[in-house]
Amino acid sequence: MRSTARLLRHASRSRANSISFVGLGRMGSEMASNLFSKRIADENNSRFVVFDAVPEVAARFIIEFRKQFHSANITAVDNPEEATLASGTIITMLPSSPHVRQVYLDSSGIIPTLRSMPPLDASNTLCIDSTTLDVQVGRDVAAEAQAAGAGMVDAPVSGGVTGAKAGTLSFLVGGSEQSFTRASPILAHMGQRIIHCGPAGSGLAAKICNNLVLGVEQIVVAEAMLLGQRLGLDPAVLAGVINNSTGACWSSSVNNPVPGALPDKSPPCERGFEGGFATGLMIKDMGLATDVSKESGSPVPLAEAAEKIYIEAVRRYPELSRKDFSAVYEYLEGMKR
Ligand code: NAD
Repeated sequence: MRSTARLLRHASRSRANSISFVGLGRMGSEMASNLFSKRIADENNSRFVVFDAVPEVAARFIIEFRKQFHSANITAVDNPEEATLASGTIITMLPSSPHVRQVYLDSSGIIPTLRSMPPLDASNTLCIDSTTLDVQVGRDVAAEAQAAGAGMVDAPVSGGVTGAKAGTLSFLVGGSEQSFTRASPILAHMGQRIIHCGPAGSGLAAKICNNLVLGVEQIVVAEAMLLGQRLGLDPAVLAGVINNSTGACWSSSVNNPVPGALPDKSPPCERGFEGGFATGLMIKDMGLATDVSKESGSPVPLAEAAEKIYIEAVRRYPELSRKDFSAVYEYLEGMKR
């Protein structure tokens, strides 16, 4: 492992052409695939480095990518240190705060590695973290990266796995104007809308507020769709009314939880709530909103109620944790009035 690190250190001259991607899960694998393939089209001397805590995940990604791009210069490394030594651009897409702390701050993490590098290499480094995590943890990590000489943005995403695959994500970016300008062309390979929300942590603040709205809306749409059917309405008729009236929202018009309600679309409810945005991740995001609301003294009674409902749904039906969060409809359907 150390000898690999030494080899990569010798290769520091090629850091400028190299991109490291850390965290190749449902979102990260699709984002990395778009980024790398579009980068090959732009510059054929690009190098790519991947790392995932599960080595088989990184190995599988490389096999799939090489099927498409036989000559791709892509390698897997053993830790974030090697990913940092190899590349001037490092993108992370991890589950949440503890994983980001580990990848950035552990002894073989990104920031201690930046500190050990020549100042010019550190200052030529840009870190982009697309994880949805606690705002304060995001701010602290960005401050450490800047103190080590690198640029950093928080760039959480909206658009889900479908948007990641299609390269149509929205990036909500927090960081300095300079880091935003450096990050934008890279993010443009993975998304369509890149919004500068303000200084470090602002992208996360915007993401958490958006998901607060989404989490609450998905429950209220489930309630209305259930009530309407019990009052004798056809779900497609009811969805048509809501989607053309003042109740219209994404949770009803795209992610409606009732099979048959959107005859010309294919929301997760049409495939047993498989795919989509996992209820477990929504619980995490509602928790991020309720936690940060306590610190900021801002009341979020609906977020607190919604968080309890998702937690109770998963307690009662553990399989809902990995299913799309619109499956909260099934939990309500099973509740006694
Ligand atoms: P995921 O669990 O599918 O993927 C996370 C990946 O990170 C896994 O491959 C895991 O092995 C890897 N990992 C975990 N700890 C690591 C570590 N210490 N070092 C290296 N790799 C590590 O999650 P996902 O669905 O891809 O979501 C990633 C982030 O994106 C989350 O913050 C989530 O809230 C956010 N997000 C997800 C969606 C969605 O629809 N899935 C939509 C918007 C935002």
